[in-house]
Amino acid sequence: PQDKTLDDLFLDTLKDIYFAEKQILKALPKMAKAAEDPQLKAGFEEHRDQTEQHVERLEQIFEMLDKPARGKTCEAILGIIGEGEEIMDDFKGTHALDAGLISAAQAVEHYEMARYGTLKTWANLLGRKDAAALLEATYKEELETDKKLTQLAVGNDNSKAAAAA
Ligand code: FE
Ligand code: FE
Repeated sequence: PQDKTLDDLFLDTLKDIYFAEKQILKALPKMAKAAEDPQLKAGFEEHRDQTEQHVERLEQIFEMLDKPARGKTCEAILGIIGEGEEIMDDFKGTHALDAGLISAAQAVEHYEMARYGTLKTWANLLGRKDAAALLEATYKEELETDKKLTQLAVGNDNSKAAAAA
């Protein structure tokens, strides 16, 4: 309908990432359990705790907007997590497992970065500086997580996978 606004799009997208964060919260412990490298394992556990905060920040934003915190099925994150699960199954017990887990996690972080970047921009356009600050805080944590994953990939896990090839 023609009466839909950027406010509606902002709310819909909040619901999308809220659903996604909750799925990620369930996936991270499985990835931590599967990881061989203790640093990667610890990284997944740490990010699980951060993800709890991401969910809380989104709930704060719903409250600011006077809307109920409700998720909306996000097929994209279900697909990305599904691919991660496939890697865990297919590469279990191999030297390439950690490299595969990192690749799956980076796909998740990039999805989140795309969403939070957009939401932050829209929050500012809509004059919601309070929401923009929370979205920015989460965006930075996703970015940092992605960087740490790259360091692990370059420094260790991928070279192990390559050496065993
Ligand atoms: Fe997150
Ligand atoms: Fe994340």
